[in-house]
Amino acid sequence: MAQFRSEEEVLSILNDKIRSNPDAVALIIRAWNFAKKAHGQQQRMSGEPHTEHLFETAKYLSELGLGASTVSAGILHDTLEDTNTSEEDLEKGFGKDIAFMVIGVTKLEKKRHGLATRQAENLRRFFISAAKDPRVLIIKLCDRLHNMNTLQYLPPKKRELIAKETLDIYVPVAERLGIDVLKRELEDLAFEQMEPDTYNENNRLFAESLKQHLPNMKEALTVLQEHLASTCPFPTKVILREKGKYSFYKKLLRKDGDTEEIKDIVTMQITVPETTDCYSVLGSVHALWRPIPKKMKDYIAFPKPNGYQCLRTAVTTDAFGIIEIHIYSEEMYARAQYGIVVDLIYNEPKVTPHGVKHRTKKLRQLFTYISKRSPKLPHTKPAL
Ligand code: MN
Repeated sequence: MAQFRSEEEVLSILNDKIRSNPDAVALIIRAWNFAKKAHGQQQRMSGEPHTEHLFETAKYLSELGLGASTVSAGILHDTLEDTNTSEEDLEKGFGKDIAFMVIGVTKLEKKRHGLATRQAENLRRFFISAAKDPRVLIIKLCDRLHNMNTLQYLPPKKRELIAKETLDIYVPVAERLGIDVLKRELEDLAFEQMEPDTYNENNRLFAESLKQHLPNMKEALTVLQEHLASTCPFPTKVILREKGKYSFYKKLLRKDGDTEEIKDIVTMQITVPETTDCYSVLGSVHALWRPIPKKMKDYIAFPKPNGYQCLRTAVTTDAFGIIEIHIYSEEMYARAQYGIVVDLIYNEPKVTPHGVKHRTKKLRQLFTYISKRSPKLPHTKPAL
């Protein structure tokens, strides 16, 4: 018989915000025991108990910093679809809020609808729920992330279907919501699944290019850190960031496979306390290294549609070649990685009529965006 996770293990994945509130902890444990009982001996294709999937989904949600209601809904997210639990049971046990999220990620019963209608209808229902409460989307993305991480246990046809759906629907959704951490991981996993040979070749080129640039960038980092420490009156944090592998691949396609043309495999990321500090630190950088004309972009004054903000510049240096630099305030940096999740952490969404209308409009735009977007991995792919 498969082993279930203990309550201690469930407690160990909870973020500080949840852990510091006894009611929140009690809610999670109640959800866990409910799900464990409901799913009983159900197993994943891996042979593990189904609850392992719920555990991992809840873990991702907790790591993102979401609250106890969302993490509980993550634990309960398959109860309607895969067990005898009814919507009423959920509402009675866990309240309207959590029940709504679980209903939102639940697919329609198979027997009632034909396949094509069912898929379209599932997607439509899902987006309507997500428009009312974006936490539904985040749960779905975390659910998908664990499924993508355990694809190897599925038959090849199913694997491919899930990977393609991930790339066509869930990656653009994560991108539009600005959740870069999930977007990166999902697209790398889908890429590996759909084009294993290209994926491996791309990894080889990526590693090679990284080996060439990283030592240089580490030296440049020290130089910049010292310069900023002596010129800025506020604290500055500088780190190196590697480009995502799939993003490297896409850029390589645009550059006809010439890795020499990819100057941003490692970028420098500067974080400062306030927005005004961003402009000030930019001046400081340009005093040290000469900027390349027209490479400066002000995404603070002109944010990207998903709310992303930063200042970008590229500089030429005698010792280290060209360096791309991104400058963020602390808040912008959090948003650059976690997107909408930042709002969900600090303000639990209010479902007001206006809010729904506003979000539905945004979601409709998102829909159009997804439907216009052809699958990102062409079947006739140019050789690298
Ligand atoms: Mn699931």
